Amino acid sequence: MAIEEQQVSYPCPTCNESFPISLFQLLEGGVIVCPRCRTNNAAAEIEAIERSLQNLGKSILNLKKCLNASGRMNQG
Ligand SMILES: [Zn+2]
Repeated sequence: MAIEEQQVSYPCPTCNESFPISLFQLLEGGVIVCPRCRTNNAAAEIEAIERSLQNLGKSILNLKKCLNASGRMNQG
């Protein structure tokens, strides 16, 4: 059996129902629809992206502070 055909338990982020999906679905990044509440994983992925953007935003702010500080030193 190919590794992609292995079934894993995927917990629904909405209703916490665990249901089997194939590793292939995970690896391909396909939309996974919960058989219980019909929620798909697209919303969860968007939340994850937003969270990483927020983390990135914080580091960009820190970077800007550093650049401003060194910029002032260069100009001064
Ligand atoms: Zn669900």
